[in-house]
Amino acid sequence: MMATTHVFAGLAVVAPVAALEPALAVPLAVGAIVGGLAPDFDLVLEHRRTFHFPASGSLLALPALAIAVLSPSTLTAGVAAFALTAWLHAASDALGGGPEMDPWNDASERAVYDHVRGTWIRPRRWIRYDGAPEDAALAVALAIPALLVFDGWIRTVVAGSVALSLGYALLRRRLVEWTPEWLE
Ligand SMILES: [Zn+2]
Repeated sequence: MMATTHVFAGLAVVAPVAALEPALAVPLAVGAIVGGLAPDFDLVLEHRRTFHFPASGSLLALPALAIAVLSPSTLTAGVAAFALTAWLHAASDALGGGPEMDPWNDASERAVYDHVRGTWIRPRRWIRYDGAPEDAALAVALAIPALLVFDGWIRTVVAGSVALSLGYALLRRRLVEWTPEWLE
């Protein structure tokens, strides 16, 4: 899945809370955006492993959620949104394909690393690869709650990210031809 799909998933989760508690809208959105992107910073390390915690992520996300519910504040809401979205990102990576650039030629059986069991989780390929047409459709659907609930710069960022995701999905297969060998 695209990084933006993960961000929109997190925003869709926090959007109903932001609608009920507009004072927490900004920390919830910032937490979801950063939490959606953060796991993929391991692209330069061991991708889908170093910062991806599909199982143990819950050990941070669930207590953070409980603290935010018991004691809602800018800080607790932001941390809970971050932890939940980062966990959702890692867990849902298993529903997509592997991290390879051209899964239609070279499919890997490693979707995301399960640090608890010490094995790679195999890709389910409900979303065949990041930027696939079904990924673009999912991204647009998940962005709708955020577009309805958030306003100001958050809505601008979401709308811009939807445009970026659609552009990426349109060019996805051609990008592989343009990518130099050493980057793959
Ligand atoms: Zn990921």
